[in-house]
Amino acid sequence: MRGNFFTICSGFYILLLLIVFFSKKRLNSIENTIYSYLIVTNFFGVILAIMCYFCILQSEVLGLFNTIISKSYVIYVLTWVSIFSVYVFTIIFNSRDLTVKEREKKQKNLYIITFIIYIIFALLVCIFPLYYMNEDYKVYSYGPAANIVYLIVLIYSIVWSFMVIKNYKNIQRNKYTPVIVYLLVGLIVMIISKLYPETLLITSLHTFVTFLMYFTIENPDLKLIKELNIARDQAEKANHAKTDFLSNMSHEIRTPLNAIDGFSQLILEEENMDTIKDEARDIMAASQNLLEIVNGILDISKIEANKLEIVNVEYEPAKVFDELVKLTKARIGEKPLELKVNIAKDLPEYLNGDYVRVKQIVLNLLTNAVKYTKKGHIEFNVDIVKKDNVCRLIISVKDTGIGIKKENIDKLFTKFERFDLDKNITIEGTGLGLAITKKLVDLMHGKIVVDSVYGKGSNFTVALDQRIVTKKKEVKEIPKEVVKPLNIKGKKILVVDDNLINLKVAARLLEAYKVETESVSSGFDCLKNIEDGKKYDLILMDDMMPKLSGVETFKKLKEIEGFDTPVIALTANAIAGMKENYLKEGFNDYISKPIDKGELERVLKTYLNAKE
Ligand code: ADP
Repeated sequence: MRGNFFTICSGFYILLLLIVFFSKKRLNSIENTIYSYLIVTNFFGVILAIMCYFCILQSEVLGLFNTIISKSYVIYVLTWVSIFSVYVFTIIFNSRDLTVKEREKKQKNLYIITFIIYIIFALLVCIFPLYYMNEDYKVYSYGPAANIVYLIVLIYSIVWSFMVIKNYKNIQRNKYTPVIVYLLVGLIVMIISKLYPETLLITSLHTFVTFLMYFTIENPDLKLIKELNIARDQAEKANHAKTDFLSNMSHEIRTPLNAIDGFSQLILEEENMDTIKDEARDIMAASQNLLEIVNGILDISKIEANKLEIVNVEYEPAKVFDELVKLTKARIGEKPLELKVNIAKDLPEYLNGDYVRVKQIVLNLLTNAVKYTKKGHIEFNVDIVKKDNVCRLIISVKDTGIGIKKENIDKLFTKFERFDLDKNITIEGTGLGLAITKKLVDLMHGKIVVDSVYGKGSNFTVALDQRIVTKKKEVKEIPKEVVKPLNIKGKKILVVDDNLINLKVAARLLEAYKVETESVSSGFDCLKNIEDGKKYDLILMDDMMPKLSGVETFKKLKEIEGFDTPVIALTANAIAGMKENYLKEGFNDYISKPIDKGELERVLKTYLNAKE
């Protein structure tokens, strides 16, 4: 029993390890699979070692049975070492920069070689004799069969040492540990075993190394910690990004607010009407700028939250480009800039795509060209390449403006990046336009490239694939402006908005048309008025109201018998695409807040005059 002491101790350890390892969730990796074979083999090895000890004690009685058990134990040692070898090869190949296929091929070859060596040596163990020592508590087996295993361990140790040294830099340090421990402790165990074979240390060495590997192999705990660390890093990065975003946003919003606030105070103190009008114009410009910033931020955050959807509809590209030309000409205004337009003649009549976004992308580029070009010209080219039913729009906007420095080109599509601020101090901008443009192009699976020479000019080219629509369908359009004189005196308009200031603004704007305006501050009041039989010629409905939104109110209104008053969505929810959403909900039309007088007039003309 004395000589068996270490082996029995290892038995308890390996049993514990077996329970812990197999009761836990494991990663489905090749390393873990090999490791599970190692544990199971070691467990049976311990049982064999104990049996072997008792069989040698009774070798004279047991005879052949003792030989079978003892040789099985020697084969166990060979098995454990071979599996450990497979593990070493695996971690070494996993650490190399190889393609999956190359790695699998190399690993497979080594596994086959190891298996062949194993079979040959196991046969040799069976063939060669094994002798037994059973004297004064010295109980062990020895002889040629055992020496064969010593030989293979020695060969493997040399191969491992060579491979480990060669791949030292690549392998994760902790994965090395069991191999190095095996090599060092194994050497000591070999020496002790040669000098004092009765100590029976080999199985315990295997248990020790197997145990150590549990802490180095990628078990779920280690993986979990790694994943937690990655998640923490990501959360920290997101937090930083949010702080940056908020600080940028605060700066951008405060700038026009400062102008609005400052000029408003001045107006209150000013008596001269011309100065008041001038300052009111400045307030309007700052408000416009503020609106642009808010819309940009909404677009960016929608894109970043993956909430922005590309809504593909049928559209007439020629009309879209025509509108873009008109808008650009308006933006050029008095600037000494020539706009050269060159639109492909064979542009399909109808395309299917998100024309609102196409327009936004191109308008951003054209607006920038106007903003950053003092004199010279802007070239707006649209080329197409048709393939089957897809039309690739190649849109380029070339200017003779200030150009962009090479080192800034990479940062161009990053939000809030603006360059040459000392020179461009008078040019309004948020640094959001190109970031949005790039994200929209990506969402539409398109490409955008920039070519710019600092001081000479820039060329932005966008390629977008749009489906060609061959059959002419009727496109649902917003009712066109009805050109009739605006005579709506006495018409009754109901304005629904929970915000009193907004109600006041709407009432003030409507005053000029001599209409009868009634205001209610909730959807419930609006429903009550209609249910009570009150009649209106038009309803302007805010959407974002507490408890009952505009859309919900509208749905309930439609359920009321005989209700046929046109309802216009009047809302600050003005990000691109909203108009289409409200029209889809069934609203007759849409006006975004802040209310543009021209827009209001268009709606009044369409829905009030037309009835006369
Ligand atoms: P914004 O124009 O609102 O500042 P953008 O994202 O549209 O923001 O553009 C980012 C920056 O890229 C601008 O501030 C400007 O410095 C530079 N830029 C964009 N377009 C041009 C252009 N056509 N020519 C020169 N510089 C440009």
